[in-house]
Parts: sequence; C-alpha cells; structure tokens
Amino acid sequence: MLLVGRVGATVAPPPAEVTHFSPMTTLAVANQKGGVAKTTSVQALGVAMAERGRKVLLVDLDPQASLTWACGIDPDALEISIHDVLLKRAKVSDALLSLEPPEPIESDGKKGRVGTLDLLPSTIDLAGAELHLLTKTGREYVLRKSLSKVVESYDMVLIDCPPSLGILTINGLTAADEVLIPLQCESLSQRGVGQLLDTIEDVRDYTNRDLKVRGAIATLFDGRTKLAHRTVEQVRREYGIEVLEPYVPKSVKVAEAPARGRSVLTHAPRSRSAEAYRELAKTLLKRNDKS
Ligand code: ADP
Ligand code: MG
Repeated sequence: MLLVGRVGATVAPPPAEVTHFSPMTTLAVANQKGGVAKTTSVQALGVAMAERGRKVLLVDLDPQASLTWACGIDPDALEISIHDVLLKRAKVSDALLSLEPPEPIESDGKKGRVGTLDLLPSTIDLAGAELHLLTKTGREYVLRKSLSKVVESYDMVLIDCPPSLGILTINGLTAADEVLIPLQCESLSQRGVGQLLDTIEDVRDYTNRDLKVRGAIATLFDGRTKLAHRTVEQVRREYGIEVLEPYVPKSVKVAEAPARGRSVLTHAPRSRSAEAYRELAKTLLKRNDKS
C-alpha cells in the first residue's frame, strides 16, 4: 500500500459494501469564527465514533488543511486532494486516505467491532477553488454531488468547515443532513451564532431544505469561570439551540495532539477532554440507534 502520511496513512481501497448500524448521517461542523475547535472536534468525534465500530469519513473543507495536518498527513505532499475533486479533476474515491483506526471500545470484557477512519484531505490549493466555484452554475452543490458517490460506504461523514460563511461553507451545509456548532466559551460575545443561523436559514431556503441544527457543543470550557457557564446559558436562551453535554474542558492535552498527528483520544485517552468527546459521539450516534 502507498504510504503518504506523517504517521502512516495509506491510500484508501475502493469503498466496500457495508452493513450500516443506522442510516448514514452527514454532519457539518461549522462556525465562521476561527479557533472555536471545529477541527479538533471533527477529529475527536470521528475517532470516538470509529472506536464504537463506525465507518467514518472526515472531510477537510478548509484551505488551511488543519484537519489533514492533525491527522498526520503533510498537505504539501499530497497529489490529489478535495481541491481536485471540487474542480472535477479527480474522483472522490481517488482522493480518499485511510487513517489508522483506533482500538475498539471494550464492553463486558469483549472487544467491539473495529471501525474505519478515512479522510478526504485538503491543501492550500483549495483557496483557489473558492474563486473557481464562484463562476460556476450549481456551485453550492459540488461537494454534495461528489460525496454522493461514496457516502453510502460510511455510517458517519463529518465535514470540517472553514472559518467563513463563503462558498466552501455553503457547500458543506448543502452536503449535510445536520449542523453541529462548536462554541468557544471564553467570550460572551457569540454574535456570530446569529449570522450562522441566518446562513443556515438561507441554505434551507435555496439548496438544502431538510438541513437540521443538531445543536452546539461547548469547547475550550473552563468550568471554574462564571463566564463559561453564562456563555452557554446565553446561547441557549438567545438562539434556542440545544447545547449538548458534556462540555469539553480546556486542556493542554488537546492542544498538544495535532503536532503529533493524532487526536486527543489517542494522545491522552483517559483525559477528561477525550472522555467528553466520547460521550458527545455517543449522543450524536444515538439519534438513530441505541448502541
Ligand atoms: P477551529 O478549527 O475552529 O479554527 P481548532 O480546532 O483548530 O479550531 O482549535 C483552535 C486551537 O485550540 C488549536 O490550537 C487547538 O489545538 C486548541 N484547542 C481546541 N480544543 C481545545 C481544548 N479543549 N483545550 C485546549 N486547546 C484546545
Ligand atoms: Mg479549523
């Protein structure tokens, strides 16, 4: 197998038939603010779902390619990326990479089913795709159409949106069944949430009528400060969206993980942040099944 990663990813084999736990879900993780833990959450939730035996696809829709990097892949060394897919120069199946799956979770002393973790990687070239897409008819649907060829092979597709409400994020929202909004609880000003909800409303009106807001997650949470709790309360009250629990604690273990090409679940498996992401993953999977 062709080795491409900083820590050993391989080119994904052609998607195989899978037995699904439940209907496949595509979840876009979006917030136009940078630094709210979109990328961290996509990676951690993806790993947590793979620990529970799910077949997971991570989609890096950010030209900064932070998710690709955090997964141990050097974006500059890639020959094919999501950029080529969106420009229709490559098939999505040719761009997919297989990441090392995590150890399955044990229950009652028995190991669970082994999940899989694939990545549709990004490179800085994707910044150019934004301009290209703007001149095209049907530009909002390009990702949705590309992913439609592979989504059936997965239980969960997680899309890491860029920090803007531009055409790439619109593509992410148009391709998704649900949106998850990470909230960074270090500032009371969450005005961006209102703008994001307006954009979601537009997407519902024009390109994806069935798009649902799954809820928000509180990230970089410092439970010792009143501000963190007030921020969550304010978002609940002002925007009427559910903030899922548990909140993800701020921890140096999370911040250290990307440089090692791993998620916090592998880097510090028993940390409170890793456990919080595991609980959240369980909640997000519970929608359609009870495992
Ligand atoms: P975004 O994708 O929204 O821009 P990132 O996921 O890249 O945000 O996170 C921004 C920064 O915060 C990164 O350096 C990341 O490692 C760090 N970070 C994310 N979550 C936590 C956390 N729970 N504790 C400490 N640092 C975190
Ligand atoms: Mg990011």
